[in-house]
Amino acid sequence: EPLLELTDVTKTFPNGTRALRGVSLRVAPGSVHGLVGANGAGKSTLIKVIAGVHPPTTGSLTWQGARRSWRDPGAARRAGLATIHQHIPLVETLSVLENVFLDRGGFRRTPVGRREEFADLVERLGYPVEADVLVGDLSIGARQMVAILQALAAGAELVVMDEPTASLSEGERRLVFDAVRRLSGQGTAFLYISHFLDEILDLTGQVTVLRDGRVVLDRGTAELDEET
Ligand code: ADP
Ligand code: ADP
Repeated sequence: EPLLELTDVTKTFPNGTRALRGVSLRVAPGSVHGLVGANGAGKSTLIKVIAGVHPPTTGSLTWQGARRSWRDPGAARRAGLATIHQHIPLVETLSVLENVFLDRGGFRRTPVGRREEFADLVERLGYPVEADVLVGDLSIGARQMVAILQALAAGAELVVMDEPTASLSEGERRLVFDAVRRLSGQGTAFLYISHFLDEILDLTGQVTVLRDGRVVLDRGTAELDEET
């Protein structure tokens, strides 16, 4: 069954803007799913509905087989849904290790336990991130990796990446793609948002294209249907 399923989701803002007009989307466990659309297509609104920032106006959201309506973003996070925005809210004056465990519960672990878990997470990521470097000294690409580690440390089953590579070099983008593929192979699902279909197709064949709040292309659902 899908990890996340949206069915006929609409979102109409109080000012009358119909940002989503019947969006259905399925993300399989451990898959990499792309979400593409031009400015104003509804990508941010859709992410906000998925992450519990906005309730949908109509339609349903199913997470791990159960219909959910998130009370707030914290509820979605605790259920295993992480969102990484282009502007990553890391604390520049803290180390990588401190940032990774900053989110809920991290400081309940012993220092030794945290180091061991950090080493495990870096191993899963497959990209060498040093624990004791200050985040303020890292490149944008490395900060993306730290944000991914943070999501893994929080127990994310689905990581929503909101145009993460918009300010990355080509080389850094490759590294982020490699990490996403590798983690997906280990069972973590990704929903990867981009303006560019070409970029998404470099990463995955499972793509939903939004235009004016509607799905105009949905590749990959057919494969999911065959499996289920
Ligand atoms: P909600 O009731 O779902 O929180 P609101 O209409 O109250 O949505 O808007 C939330 C925020 O988005 C407000 O700060 C608002 O100013 C801002 N906003 C309003 N219109 C737009 C728009 N067209 N594009 C982006 N943001 C907007
Ligand atoms: P994208 O992320 O694809 O650029 P958005 O989801 O931000 O698209 O916006 C979709 C439409 O909804 C746009 O017309 C935008 O102006 C409008 N919109 C987004 N947020 C709000 C809001 N809070 N209030 C009113 N309109 C909004």
